[in-house]
Amino acid sequence: MFYESTRGGFKASGTEAVLQGIAPDGGLYVDKTIGRRAFDWKKCLSLQPMEMAEMLLSYMLPDFIGMDKLVQKAYDGKFSTPELTPLVKVGEDYVLELFHGPTCAFKDFALSLLPCLTVAAREQEGITDRIVILTATSGDTGKAALEGFHDMGGTGIIVFYPAEGVSPVQKAQMITQAGANVKVCAVHGNFDDCQAGVKEAFSEINSSGFAADRSIRLSSANSINIGRLAPQLVYYFIAYADLVKEGRIVIGDTVDFSVPTGNFGDILAGYLAKLMGLPVGKLVCASNANNVLTEFIKTGVYNRHRKFIKTSSPSMDILVSSNLERLLYYVSEGDCKFVSECMQSLSSWGEFRVGLDILLEIQDSFSAFYADEEKTAQTIKRLWTDSSYLCDPHTAVAFSAAEEYKQKESDGAPLVILSTASPYKFPEAVLSALGQNTAGSEFELMEKLSQLSGISAPQALCSLKGKKAIHNDVIDRNEIKDYVCTILGQWEKEK
Ligand SMILES: *Cc1c(COP(=O)(O)O)cnc(C)c1O
Repeated sequence: MFYESTRGGFKASGTEAVLQGIAPDGGLYVDKTIGRRAFDWKKCLSLQPMEMAEMLLSYMLPDFIGMDKLVQKAYDGKFSTPELTPLVKVGEDYVLELFHGPTCAFKDFALSLLPCLTVAAREQEGITDRIVILTATSGDTGKAALEGFHDMGGTGIIVFYPAEGVSPVQKAQMITQAGANVKVCAVHGNFDDCQAGVKEAFSEINSSGFAADRSIRLSSANSINIGRLAPQLVYYFIAYADLVKEGRIVIGDTVDFSVPTGNFGDILAGYLAKLMGLPVGKLVCASNANNVLTEFIKTGVYNRHRKFIKTSSPSMDILVSSNLERLLYYVSEGDCKFVSECMQSLSSWGEFRVGLDILLEIQDSFSAFYADEEKTAQTIKRLWTDSSYLCDPHTAVAFSAAEEYKQKESDGAPLVILSTASPYKFPEAVLSALGQNTAGSEFELMEKLSQLSGISAPQALCSLKGKKAIHNDVIDRNEIKDYVCTILGQWEKEK
């Protein structure tokens, strides 16, 4: 089995795809045979979470040697709960809490494993070059990637975040990151500017030979990397198995999932799980006020020409959802020409549209709803008042979409809401939604929130208080390339 680029030009083994991140033709790596190669999903459901991870990842990335050890190393002792991603009943629905990892965001699940995969792939391929990760973050990827890659031998990581686009806690998490192989820098503009700037820098540095001349290979920790996407299938299986254990369903019943969506990675993993046999019903694509995906899934028109709105769920403030490209590939049965044309149109005109056949194929698996800021805040408040459940704004968006889905479209299947961040990461937004006074520092607000809820804030967040800011650089989007070259030069000297 090999991966191929969604744009048709390139093929790669699993190890190569993980090291490259993005294909040389600008496409994303996909496995054409997923679901067509045999996978015993019923057996998978009978396993413990770590064994499930091993089985799924061995299927997705079969050329990695010793996946059992890699999985152990990635997850053992890193999550605050033994079940990794606990399923909590709230009202008549279920919340899959994905935020019990080291940085309190769902991205920990994938980014705990990706560094292990990267180092293993480098060794297996016999590469002596240093692998440097370039990543744009809307808030959570940055810290989770830094946590995973810092001081990992043979690697380096440079993270760019939108200067005004992340929450104060997210910022504090990143700029206090220690490690000899890490660098963090703010970029003027929003996440899309940041992501586009990093993509440009990435390909320019590669094509100019600058990296190769210095024995460096660039890679990415964004969800365009298949090594980032693959681990995310695991918790769909964990959630399904938990519902079976609880007696809520029997194996074979369909389950719907509501997923707070930005770059479309998390929800795409649910789709891949479905292709592999897991009885997933509808995947509800939940967006905030940046509702470009809601419109696309309802109408087949993807139009990024709209106002970029800064919301209380910054990790979903995205107008160009990278992983949609992978969905277009799958629903068109691997039509690389079609995918390339859509992406070309998006980059030239800011828009593309798909035909009715493709749209119906998408709507067969996906529904879409969005929550604006007011609805998001109301949802946080209602969940706290009605169910004593405290959730962060991203999760609230998914709850709101789930409600609307249930009223308008659901056939009554059990519904799992993916909870992607700890509420303590966004104390101001949560307190404000609850009608509380929000004066004071982020840490005072965190404390206030814990007093209100009676649950203490995660240690990983409390311990940020008083930590020294190490990374204070702020640059323009067009300076990213030079910035990276300077850092790579410095690291080369230190070798
Ligand atoms: C990244 C992120 C999302 C969106 O996930 P995608 O895979 O980009 O769609 C949602 N919520 C939180 C808290 C996140 O960090």
